[in-house]
Amino acid sequence: MRWPKWAPEVLVTRLANRGVTGLWPHQYEAADLAHRGRNVIISTGTASGKSLAYLTPAVASCLDGGTVLYLTPTKALAADQLRGLRELRITQVRAASFDGDTPFEERTWVRQHANYVLTNPDMLHRSVLPRHSQWSSFFRRLRLVVVDECHGYRGVFGSHVAQILRRLRRVCAKYGSQPAFLLASATASEPGAFAMRLTGLEMDEVTSDASPKGATTIALWEPPLTELRGEGGAPVRRTATAETADLLADLVLADVRTLAFVRSRRGAETVALTARAKLADVAHSLRHAVPAPTPPEPVAEQPDALADLPGKIAAYRAGYLAEDRRLLEKALRSGALMGLATTNALELGVDVSGLDAVLIAGWPGTRASLWQQAGRAGRAGQDALAVLIARDDPLDTYLVHHPQALFGRPVEAIVLDPDNPYVLGPHLCAAAAEIPLTEADLPVFGDTAATVLDALVSDGLLRRRPAGWFWTRRERATDLADIRGGGGAPIQVVESGTGRLLGSVDEPSAHTTVHTGAVYLHQGETFLVETLDLDAGVALVSNADPDYTTFARDVTDISVLASSRSHDLGPGRLHFGEVEVTRQVVSYLKRRVQSGEMLGDEPLDLPPRTLRTRAVWWTLPASQVAALAEEGFDLGGAAHAAEHASIGLLPLFATCDRWDIGGVSTELHADTGLLTVFVYDGHEGGAGFAERGYARASDWLTATREAIASCECERGCPSCIQSPKCGNGNEPLDKRGAIRLLDILLDA
Ligand SMILES: [Zn+2]
Ligand SMILES: [Zn+2]
Repeated sequence: MRWPKWAPEVLVTRLANRGVTGLWPHQYEAADLAHRGRNVIISTGTASGKSLAYLTPAVASCLDGGTVLYLTPTKALAADQLRGLRELRITQVRAASFDGDTPFEERTWVRQHANYVLTNPDMLHRSVLPRHSQWSSFFRRLRLVVVDECHGYRGVFGSHVAQILRRLRRVCAKYGSQPAFLLASATASEPGAFAMRLTGLEMDEVTSDASPKGATTIALWEPPLTELRGEGGAPVRRTATAETADLLADLVLADVRTLAFVRSRRGAETVALTARAKLADVAHSLRHAVPAPTPPEPVAEQPDALADLPGKIAAYRAGYLAEDRRLLEKALRSGALMGLATTNALELGVDVSGLDAVLIAGWPGTRASLWQQAGRAGRAGQDALAVLIARDDPLDTYLVHHPQALFGRPVEAIVLDPDNPYVLGPHLCAAAAEIPLTEADLPVFGDTAATVLDALVSDGLLRRRPAGWFWTRRERATDLADIRGGGGAPIQVVESGTGRLLGSVDEPSAHTTVHTGAVYLHQGETFLVETLDLDAGVALVSNADPDYTTFARDVTDISVLASSRSHDLGPGRLHFGEVEVTRQVVSYLKRRVQSGEMLGDEPLDLPPRTLRTRAVWWTLPASQVAALAEEGFDLGGAAHAAEHASIGLLPLFATCDRWDIGGVSTELHADTGLLTVFVYDGHEGGAGFAERGYARASDWLTATREAIASCECERGCPSCIQSPKCGNGNEPLDKRGAIRLLDILLDA
């Protein structure tokens, strides 16, 4: 360990007091590159000290008269970083956060005097860039832009952030500065390529990781199949939620400080409620089992301690108010709280140290997230336990049977598509409103910028003049881009009895999360949606306590607009191109929370939604199909099963969620005239997921085949080929046919 020569003396001294004697080689390399003005991404494991890699050049920049812009996806992480900076007590570093919580009277001070500003992409988009002239002295001196936890910038959100960073570069250029970009990310495949796509800049990558760690024991756990029967008579696996709640309660009882990561907010709240109920039962039986001791005085405290037992477990999520969040974080740090169930809201760097164990209920979506979450345990170098509990999902099945996919080289890349015209258009308007666009600016925004600009001019959004493109409308251009939403006006979620506003959901998500009859959880409370009124933009809910969850099911139609790339795949053919998808949520499935038992399907009456997006699809020639039919396979069922499982496996290769993509399969598609399986990006314009599937098709479909084959069920279940969102009620499905179909396609 050593310090670079240029490392500020004051920082070295302050950190020496905390036992930090220098930088590890990976920190050194990234810090030194950034200090020399190079752009770099540092992509290493959790607890590898990425913050020291950017702190060192950042403090050096401040002492040298420069300014630093620090970006994170969440306010909580910025608050944590700010606390760390202030504790260093370096008077020349005037650090301040600038987010939605910053009082207006403080904002002027931040703009004029802070030299280390911590903010998020939303604030940069809506406030900082549009009012750049108020920030002129900050931008003029800007030396370093730190983009922390940048693996969160994927898919459509990542594509928006990519355009915001391009606008930032343009504003800097106006003020004559050319800051270095230092990106910090969890481990991923091809971080340099991702960083370049995100910033549009050439990037060095630093991927080694030499920091010391305690040993973490990783357990992979597949819950057993139960006696219950689900759709089509399929066996039902015990739920990851139930297993996680049991483990959480057991670990808390054993005084093991445990964090449980659950994929959905609803799931996290269910785990916390179930584990608390279990502790309440334990407290109850202890109280009644222990005979009243004589003399009574030493146990005066015991009834209280037992009564408090359930209170040792809580749920945490990003939507909580800042004060609620901080209270929970504090209680966990102090040990007043021993168990916390959370969504990945906590994953993004909130500093909770001293945890002994981490439970991960279901594959968290990416290997980066898995290691990030597992890395939460045993921070200060002590040994720790991390348990991945498989859900009944084909990807989870694949992983618990193929641990090499977790421990070998990362395969999943962080993907985004900054050229998506639905993303680029609004940001070109915002950029033009900031500083009129000129021909010279176009390369910053990519190859498709000229075409998109023409469309914006003909739509009357921008005006073309000899000096360039201008925003001449009265409204704010930044309102055109909804950077975290899926578009459409938000739906308000209102409690019917009291009129209390519980929150809001974007319109496309409303179809799947707050449809009539949906179970909706809010801050540990369960609500039932009475009605969803799309015209009024309101979902009316009431307090309820059903013992089931709901899954919206949709049916999809797809038509091919253009195949932009294709090649042979075994005897079949693989394509990537533009499609038009019409989706309609038609019903919802009820499933018992604890057991996973199916309680039936309820019809819904919601309008279809159409989107233009990108898809990957494969076809099989009629001769092969005929031969398979002769062998007795149900071709429609085989293609349908392969579609479901391949949607489940794509997130192994592209960082996406199974709900970010969709699929259609048919024995005979009108546009191809062949047996065809489509997998499409479920976002307007595409998000890069299908494109990654096209690029890694043979690995992807091999893993799909393996996932189906390694499930012990006989004819298909939710762990392999059944999908909870299938609008056709998982009919027809042919498990053996799907394996055979994929074997032929893969030429095995
Ligand atoms: Zn199965
Ligand atoms: Zn289906």
